[in-house]
Amino acid sequence: REQAELLQDLRHAVERRQLELVYQPKVDAGSLQITAAEALLRWQHPQRGTISPSVFIPLAERHGLIVPIGRWVVAEACRQAGQWRDLGLRMRVAVNVSGHQLRQADFVPFVLRQLAEHGIPPSRLTCEITETVAMEDTAVTRLAFERLGQAGLHVSIDDFGTGHSSLATLRRLPARELKIDRAFVSDLSTGGEEARSIVRAIVQMAHSLQLHVVAEGVETEQQRDELAQLGCDELQGYLFAKPMT
Ligand code: C2E
Ligand code: CA
Ligand code: CA
Repeated sequence: REQAELLQDLRHAVERRQLELVYQPKVDAGSLQITAAEALLRWQHPQRGTISPSVFIPLAERHGLIVPIGRWVVAEACRQAGQWRDLGLRMRVAVNVSGHQLRQADFVPFVLRQLAEHGIPPSRLTCEITETVAMEDTAVTRLAFERLGQAGLHVSIDDFGTGHSSLATLRRLPARELKIDRAFVSDLSTGGEEARSIVRAIVQMAHSLQLHVVAEGVETEQQRDELAQLGCDELQGYLFAKPMT
């Protein structure tokens, strides 16, 4: 009953302006300068307070609401990127894109229209797509990736290490960035040399495929130093900043 009620409310969340984007910076592992901001969705529910995307995104995906919600995310992130540009801030903006969105034939044209409306070059927007979705080697996802690449949008493979990557598929994708899942980052504190070896191997493989490596979920200075030493290009996590309005 709880899920049904939540779903009912979610159907109206966009029009009732209950959705909000918060942003978490990615920083350069060497200089610690901000390079980008990832948009993360929040739902301000009038009775329940802030609801996490890990609760309502799966619900939205199951019930066909992710497409309108995802469109709102893209439009809002482009608007914010335009505002930052006007303020003289130079940073890339990243949005999370679900598999359902990617499979919509008009996804890429829609993104390009939103970018054009705010005068943002496509190369300034990163679409974060989970490894699991990226590895669905179907004709539809292949076409979507081709279109993203042709349009000059950057693709980032999110939660890397949690899915089943095929190296052949990885090589073919027009991706620019790979995000090491935070499970591997937290393992650095407990897993010792073995955990380090895994991160090192991921970084080496990514770099040889010309992919930029981002480590997410960095919470301690020790993790920060080790990840920089292991060759990660960018870092993201509570150590630097929590997602913020
Ligand atoms: P994600 O894309 O892997 O995002 C990273 C999540 O880790 C975020 O949770 C972020 O707040 C959290 N995080 C960041 N730094 C740290 C840290 O140092 N320690 C820990 N423990 N956690 C950290 P959040 O915002 O709850 O988002 C959860 C997931 O929901 C995201 O995972 C993403 O898959 C999904 N999501 C969020 N916004 C959207 C969206 O607009 N569209 C879609 N399709 N999915 C979204
Ligand atoms: Ca992400
Ligand atoms: Ca992630």
